[in-house]
Amino acid sequence: MSDCLFCKILAGEVPSDKVYEDDKMYVFKDIHPKADVHLLAIPRVHIASLNEVNDEHDEIMAHMIKMLPRIAKEQGLDDGFRTIINTGKGGGQLVFHLHIHLLGGSNLPGFQ
Ligand code: AMP
Ligand code: ZN
Repeated sequence: MSDCLFCKILAGEVPSDKVYEDDKMYVFKDIHPKADVHLLAIPRVHIASLNEVNDEHDEIMAHMIKMLPRIAKEQGLDDGFRTIINTGKGGGQLVFHLHIHLLGGSNLPGFQ
């Protein structure tokens, strides 16, 4: 996906503040943080949104979910954290490469 911002970040064509990476996922700081800690976890493969997830992605999705608590703890979020996945325009999704927001810290905004 040559015009996908997060694919460009994965390719190193757009700079990002890396927090964690492995063969399946990449985690970096959100450029407009909404809390003390605001990370984005993305799969290395281009999946546009949760709507496009299928059986082929079982391993990647399970891996990403499993890694989030470990990454949160490494960020000092011992008390807990919030995850958000915006899906589609109606869900407020702006970047169409699946991403899991990981938020936490003392400035965690209210959830309405
Ligand atoms: P969403 O509304 O769920 O699609 O969220 C997209 C998120 O990507 C927003 O929180 C943006 O602040 C974030 N974002 C956009 N461009 C960049 C970038 N170049 N580096 C890091 N985060 C970004
Ligand atoms: Zn992409």
